[in-house]
Amino acid sequence: MAPRNSLNSPDSYAVAWIAALPIERAAAEAMFDEEHAPPTGFARHQIDANRYTWGRMGEHNIVIVSLAAGDYGTTSAATTASNLLASLPSIRVGLLVGIGGGIARPDDDRDIRLGDIVVSQPDGTRGGVCQYDLIKAKPGDRRERKGFLGRPPTVLLNALASIQADHERKDSKVRCFLQQMLEKYPKMGKRSKISPGYTHQGFDKDRLFKASSGHVSGPDCRGCDAAGDVQRDPRDTTDPDIHYGTIASGNTLVKDAAARDRIVADVGEDCICFEMEAAGLMNHFPCLVIRGICDYADSHKNDRWQRYASATAAAYTKELLAYVPAAEVQETKKALEMLQSVEQKIDSMQQTIGVAKIATDSIQADLRTEKIERWLRPSDPSRNANHARELRHEGTGAWLLENPAFQEWHSGSRRHLWLYGLTGCGKTVLSATVLDHLEKGNDRLILSFFFDFGDTEKQTVDGMLRSLAFQLYRGRGASAGLLNASFQAHQDGRDQIATKALSDVLFKTLTVQTKVSIVLDALDESTTRRELLLWIKDVVSRPDLGHVQLICTGRPEAEFLSDIPSLIGEENSLALDKHSINADIRSYVAAQLSQRREFRNKHLSRDLLEGIRRKIGDGADGMFRWAFCQLDSLARCRHEADMAKALASLPRNLEETYRRMIECIPMELKNDAIRLLQFLVHSERPLKLVEAKEVIATQIENGSQGFDIKRRLFCETDVLDYCPGLATFVHATDKELHLAHFSVKEYLLRENRFKISTASISITRTCLTYLTDINGSHQKIKQEFPMARFAAEVWTGFAALAQASEDIVRGTVRFVEEEVTFQRWARLYQADMHWVDDPGPPRGSKLYYACFVGLIAPARDLIGKGADVNAQGGFYGNALQAASFRGHQEIIALLLDKGADVNAQGFYGNALQAASSEGHQEIVALLLDKGADVNA
Ligand SMILES: [Zn+2]
Repeated sequence: MAPRNSLNSPDSYAVAWIAALPIERAAAEAMFDEEHAPPTGFARHQIDANRYTWGRMGEHNIVIVSLAAGDYGTTSAATTASNLLASLPSIRVGLLVGIGGGIARPDDDRDIRLGDIVVSQPDGTRGGVCQYDLIKAKPGDRRERKGFLGRPPTVLLNALASIQADHERKDSKVRCFLQQMLEKYPKMGKRSKISPGYTHQGFDKDRLFKASSGHVSGPDCRGCDAAGDVQRDPRDTTDPDIHYGTIASGNTLVKDAAARDRIVADVGEDCICFEMEAAGLMNHFPCLVIRGICDYADSHKNDRWQRYASATAAAYTKELLAYVPAAEVQETKKALEMLQSVEQKIDSMQQTIGVAKIATDSIQADLRTEKIERWLRPSDPSRNANHARELRHEGTGAWLLENPAFQEWHSGSRRHLWLYGLTGCGKTVLSATVLDHLEKGNDRLILSFFFDFGDTEKQTVDGMLRSLAFQLYRGRGASAGLLNASFQAHQDGRDQIATKALSDVLFKTLTVQTKVSIVLDALDESTTRRELLLWIKDVVSRPDLGHVQLICTGRPEAEFLSDIPSLIGEENSLALDKHSINADIRSYVAAQLSQRREFRNKHLSRDLLEGIRRKIGDGADGMFRWAFCQLDSLARCRHEADMAKALASLPRNLEETYRRMIECIPMELKNDAIRLLQFLVHSERPLKLVEAKEVIATQIENGSQGFDIKRRLFCETDVLDYCPGLATFVHATDKELHLAHFSVKEYLLRENRFKISTASISITRTCLTYLTDINGSHQKIKQEFPMARFAAEVWTGFAALAQASEDIVRGTVRFVEEEVTFQRWARLYQADMHWVDDPGPPRGSKLYYACFVGLIAPARDLIGKGADVNAQGGFYGNALQAASFRGHQEIIALLLDKGADVNAQGFYGNALQAASSEGHQEIVALLLDKGADVNA
């Protein structure tokens, strides 16, 4: 071999080519035009255990980096990258090249074959690589789609565009580079006992099987049923095709068709490949991912095609590099700088140990934080605090900050405080004020949680703990290790953490802090008050938490009044001072009159202004919410006489205020308004504004029933005309419509038409009407009908509560049995896989889904019409396991009565296991009685 050149500085290398496996590295090295010896002056960083090969392709000097043998996966890739950057700070762009599992859909223009090449292609805002990771261990856990990772550098994106344009006219050079490789290294073309060679393995060795056709054991597919082959058009050349799209990356090896299809459903339809390293790199190291397809990510996978696939990917990469101008690479930001800009303010001179350590730490910490967040699914308290801040004006709550009790709490001489006051006195605004005040101090760790009547994720102790634990984790104190350890102990997040265990971790983490304040708002809006009180008791009584201070707000309800003072001391339980609140209200009213457009523009007479100040400012009697509502209704008055009249007959209390608000809804809006309020009262999560518009556009009254696109409001803010004063916008990721206050919900629930028995009928009818009337392809429905998924998700829960209505029962049966509506529903949402965004076609029978969601009438009807009670399909395998998992006793009795096999296998060994895994004791007894096998 000719003596190798050595370049005179490591800075001559700007492109890093990362290859995980030895065969990938061999293929990469075979593409060099010239190999180099290590550059003069190259000093491997002491933390760096990577292997490097140096060389040139075209005008680029390239360093090939490979992972430690036997190591693969996203974390290993992240470590490799951070070590690389520590040793070679001059690197500017990265290429991640190797093999992957193809997601072939020959019917959908994705006719991917073994040996083909796939390239991560960003589109719009998506980065081209999507991280999938199965964090669920048992069915029913929620899994969330992971976001797309960062975009590759522009210089590579431009090259991608050019090469694609050229390939429209000319053949790819992959074939030619492969040929050169084999001429230069004939050994790579030979088949031997240990290697099938870096060559095309023959069309007969490329079989794509239907998802339902599993692999028969053995090292290859000779024994696999030919009937399971997907028929594809023959190709007239072995030259690989090149596909551009989304690459899914994660740590779980995908090797069965069902798991593959689930992830594809999750990630989206443009997903063309699975691989296991990119997710570790992309957010920290700007790179493009190029994969040769070596299998179809199913049970038939074997090693035969891996070498050839490595070679095609390497050859394509070489071709692509010819489109990358070396001068432009030099203008690209250094990868390390990108990393540093994330970490901010790192002294650029300090490129030794410190940087390397920070680089490694930052990558790994980010990776971990993402994992922990997916595992804990914490809700975000900032939305509540921000909404409260919007309602507040300068100076609100200042009296509390000046109050001696608060100041003593703040200085630590009082440990806890409970501030209680009646409905509508402005507690949440006070909590936000306290929070802001604490944040100014910078002398302690601050955690907060706002219990929220409108959002089930913000009502339980479990939800609170998830949020607090994550806030603490994100602070990245030395204590993050405890949560990491717990994450690992829970199968790297595949198992859910129990509330008790989470509380233990939180407490242990808190013990090592020096000073902590926890703000808990609206204790009375929690649905797990008893648990909450026990948790508070723990905080108060544990000797190792002496430095943790609570400040809570809430209404003085009986259980709080009887427990909290004895826990934290009578003297630390303070009724909010009505005089101070009244002063706040007066200044709020004055500010509104001088600042709010609706008052300013009207040039009100001095007398009227004085009247408003006096009657509302002085008449609120400690109730902020009341003053707020009255100002709102005065602001809507059309002329002075109208306003004077309204002022003369102000409602005495909130109850009367709300009654009048409902009476004032114009007749022609009434039906729509009531329907909308029924949704707002009973929805488990806040309603998006676009959904609220659809509710209004869906009429359910006899005679005019139907969803009419022409009834969509022109202007979305007009939604508020339907429920003036009763609802409000909240600006979250999507604009949301919330009931304006907890007291509104309480008021409405006292009226018959808003009680669940009545509301569930109208909500079910609205959802079914909507889902029946929206038409078009699945794609169109997803894009153009924003309430589709929500309606598909929630209707069954309300239908189950509305079974007393014969009309609903009939409508339900019709909806489930009708093929079109059933398919539409299942494409939008499958309750047994509720964590999947886009679940694809139904995987079980109509009967199966009816049983899972607990709809007895359609189940009975379907069986009466001959549905097979033992049909296989769906996540749980059969209807009996589905109903047993969910605990629908009446349905289980029906199925068994109609001949369902009590021991049929499915996701669980049998239905008995399904029922006991969820603790349904009576059903366990029933199944045992019917002969269920305890050892299944
Ligand atoms: Zn096979």
